[in-house]
Amino acid sequence: MKILVCIKQIPDTTDIKWTENNTIQREGLESVINPYDIFAIQEALNIKKILRSAQNDDMKNTEITAISMGPLQAQDILKKAIAMGCDNAVLLSDKKFSGADTYATAKTISSAIKTNFPDFDLIFCGQFAIDGDTAQTGPGIASFLNIPQVTFVKNIKKYEENSLYAVRELEDGFETVKVEFPALICVLKGDYEPVRPTIQGTIKAQNTKIRILGVDDIGLTSDDVGIKGSPTYVSKAFRPEHNRGECSYCSDIDELANKIKEYINE
Ligand code: FAD
Repeated sequence: MKILVCIKQIPDTTDIKWTENNTIQREGLESVINPYDIFAIQEALNIKKILRSAQNDDMKNTEITAISMGPLQAQDILKKAIAMGCDNAVLLSDKKFSGADTYATAKTISSAIKTNFPDFDLIFCGQFAIDGDTAQTGPGIASFLNIPQVTFVKNIKKYEENSLYAVRELEDGFETVKVEFPALICVLKGDYEPVRPTIQGTIKAQNTKIRILGVDDIGLTSDDVGIKGSPTYVSKAFRPEHNRGECSYCSDIDELANKIKEYINE
């Protein structure tokens, strides 16, 4: 069974600088794995652990590949993914990829999957990246690959030979969905401590060479990727101003209720 986990590097800072295209200047920033993607890795590891006792050899030999699109610096988070238990990792890195919006990002990642991992069974993504926060990349990858997607997944309840049952968190409760492979799953934060790098994994990561793919390796041209392949145009980027006004204090609940009443009637 072949599992891919999409992981994004996000800046480990609140001191954001902008490029001339009004996008985040990422080069040189201290980076970490997007937190939701750590839960995506964990779900992949859970499947691998469960399938160790499977009868079928293909399922027993489950392989997890972490995949990221980003600058060369993103090799660090891929090494961390290997230290956490992924078997190998691929970085999509090419100057031509820079300036990609979510459409071009999903197109680039899905083309890399089509051309380099055509026999994949499952793709895990985080539900959101906490910097961009659009939640569009996972569904975009599934659309380009024309496979089913299950979003807002809180946990995976059961695996069968060619399918799984995912528990989705909704606004007013939970629902369980059965999906057949190949499929893409976007995961939320699970109710458990996420995986951490192990010493054994860290040694393996140090000795693993990350495979790097550019535009020529994924069946696209420079017109399809990066800023050229991005229909989104950012006209302005700014920090919102916080205008909280003056604070006032109330000594009891009646005074608070009266203040709220005055405020509403203003
Ligand atoms: P979401 O869609 O919220 O992420 C959900 C999940 O998708 C993640 O948890 C992860 O599993 C997966 N995922 C998302 N991104 C990646 C990735 N890169 N690799 C692997 N998995 C991923 N960003 C830059 O870094 N450099 C730029 O130059 C740049 N230019 C931009 C230009 C424009 C016009 C726009 C609109 C955006 C630009 N961005 C750039 C932002 C970039 O498009 C988004 O960061 C990216 O497409 C992912 O969107 P998101 O952050 O909302 O992730």
